[in-house]
Amino acid sequence: MTVADPIWRPYTQHATSAPPVFIERAAGATLHAKEGRKIFDAISSWWVTLHGHAHPRIAAAIARQAASLEQVIFASFTHEPAERLSAALLAKAPRGLDRVFYSDDGSTAVEVAVKMAVGYWSRRGERRPLIVALEDAYHGDTFGAMSVSARGAFTADYGSMLFEVRRVPWNEPAALEALLKAEGERVAAMIVEPLVLGAGGMLMYPPAVLEAFADACARHGVLFIADEVMTGFGRTGTLFACEQAGVTPDILCLSKGLTGGFLPLGATLAKEAVFQAFRDQDRAKTFFHGHSYAGNPIACAAALASLAVFDEEPVFERIAKIAAIHQRELKRFAGRPQVVETRQTGTIAAVELRVGDSGYLSGLGPKLLEFYLSKDVLLRPLGNVVYLLPPYCSSERELVHAYDAIEESLVLLRD
Ligand SMILES: *Cc1c(COP(=O)(O)O)cnc(C)c1O
Repeated sequence: MTVADPIWRPYTQHATSAPPVFIERAAGATLHAKEGRKIFDAISSWWVTLHGHAHPRIAAAIARQAASLEQVIFASFTHEPAERLSAALLAKAPRGLDRVFYSDDGSTAVEVAVKMAVGYWSRRGERRPLIVALEDAYHGDTFGAMSVSARGAFTADYGSMLFEVRRVPWNEPAALEALLKAEGERVAAMIVEPLVLGAGGMLMYPPAVLEAFADACARHGVLFIADEVMTGFGRTGTLFACEQAGVTPDILCLSKGLTGGFLPLGATLAKEAVFQAFRDQDRAKTFFHGHSYAGNPIACAAALASLAVFDEEPVFERIAKIAAIHQRELKRFAGRPQVVETRQTGTIAAVELRVGDSGYLSGLGPKLLEFYLSKDVLLRPLGNVVYLLPPYCSSERELVHAYDAIEESLVLLRD
């Protein structure tokens, strides 16, 4: 059987969704569709595009690297882009991280972190089978990442195959203390999304709570993993969200914006003590993990070019400008009966809508997506939560247009 479109798309219910929009090219914050249609990419194409689509500096770095060394096996061999990127990441990450392990994407960066943490304890002769995670967490779609993510629609079919995790509410740090008092010696690590829980609905908590989580883990001798796959590279207003709490995690997961949004690449940064647990004359103690494309030179070159944009363009001014526009525009939703609340951390803004059936499967999400697309804005609500997570080059005009579309969409809600 041949079908017109054989592509099975991510997170898509093919029975109910409209056909995909064909994009011919993209530049800045704009996706160019057929017949001159221009769409504002208000969610950075699933949270990856950082400085803008097709940023010339990053595009040129990729072209240059592809023409000289496109790929080489990363065990027994090394190359300049990976060495330079590792040094640059360690220089910019919270102080105290010493090692960089490369993988392919956010989910693999999390898999690596969890395997490092559990392996760390077993190398030290301790069996610590538990991971602590936050309620409403999202850490990716592979099995380990699903295990530490919240249970729900995404994981329902696979529940029996996911490992056991202890959960604490992200808005109640005292619960962690009680849990670690009771079971801390069986806990290998705690994993959190710092300040903003992304796919869980852009839920936000203050730096003091992040600090309390990290502090409790340190006091109970539990490794602290920060998953900054989404929050990293300026989204929350600082290069990394952990900075706002003065926290250096034992393990830090990066991806999404790492390459400026050009190529898939994951990085898991670790403190020296974690690395040393695996370093031994006994080869059985090796960290047995690796992906075919680990440390891909082209992806590393893209990441270096993206970091160079941070150094050479006024990126943090752009970030501050977006944050100020969010703050101003969110005010239009104050007191609206269709709005539960608005939230903002740095360049991330969310409007939580009041609907009968909330949650990811709320029928409202797809309806809103279609409405926003009809206004030439890419906004992809997480159930009843509409959010903006725009590229840093977004203009005031583009952002206000997106807010206009959100305000107009309120009429779609029964009130
Ligand atoms: C998106 C995301 C992941 C998974 O990243 P992929 O590249 O989609 O595998 C992991 N953690 C967080 C916090 C994310 O937002």
